[in-house]
Amino acid sequence: TSERNALEANEISAGYGEAQVLRDLSFELQEGEILSIVGPNGAGKTTLMRVLMGLIGPTNGSVRLYGDQITDLPAHERLGHGLALVSEERNLFREMSVKENLVMGSYSERGKNRGERLERVFDLFPRLEERQDQHAGTLSGGEAQMLAIGRSLMTDIRILMLDEPSLGLAPKLVPELFDKIREINDDGISIVLVEQRAQEALQLADSGCLLENGAIVHRGAAAEMLDDEDVIEKYLGGA
Ligand code: ATP
Repeated sequence: TSERNALEANEISAGYGEAQVLRDLSFELQEGEILSIVGPNGAGKTTLMRVLMGLIGPTNGSVRLYGDQITDLPAHERLGHGLALVSEERNLFREMSVKENLVMGSYSERGKNRGERLERVFDLFPRLEERQDQHAGTLSGGEAQMLAIGRSLMTDIRILMLDEPSLGLAPKLVPELFDKIREINDDGISIVLVEQRAQEALQLADSGCLLENGAIVHRGAAAEMLDDEDVIEKYLGGA
């Protein structure tokens, strides 16, 4: 049933030099869903995102996008196939304006539909429209995160992977960010959400994966994971 999965990782192993981080990891993202990947610090969540995006190669295993083998495709080609990653670092051009940062996100499209996309991003993030002429370096943490996400929406993406988007945000801004992620998903974009805020991330998600020591130790419907005593006790702070 590969063709029904938007993204699929099969028996992925990966690491840095001698240090193996991911061990034989498999999961799938179904078209249209929000999948949350949660787990403690150092579990390998960021490494997994890098492998899926093609920023580092796996030592074993394969990645499929809508059924097509993409394990050897470089990141920019994956982007061309509709897969985008907003990483923890955000990688904004601080000396450039908000609008210029957004336009940079659409460079591969040669200007095609640029105005339309910009409008869509400004609809989703009115704050970015207000601040479009300001240097990106002057934005607050929350606004910078919205800009990083907005930039990824400037190309024709089908899957958005978000690595700890709530990192560095004031807690009161997190629900707003998660609402935006829901809106993006409502627009038909499938989402992989990596989060330390396990409880909130699972509340937003359709399904969940729990990553520990480079392996998936639990996966299932997000609602079931939120009800699972073992998961609650070990990973959701016993709440
Ligand atoms: P965090 O929430 O802290 O980012 P994580 O679950 O995303 O954790 P990773 O960042 O993937 O975990 O890190 C997994 C392991 O890989 C850690 O032991 C980390 O020290 C190691 N690691 C991460 N990046 C590198 C790198 N560039 N070179 C060497 N080791 C790395």
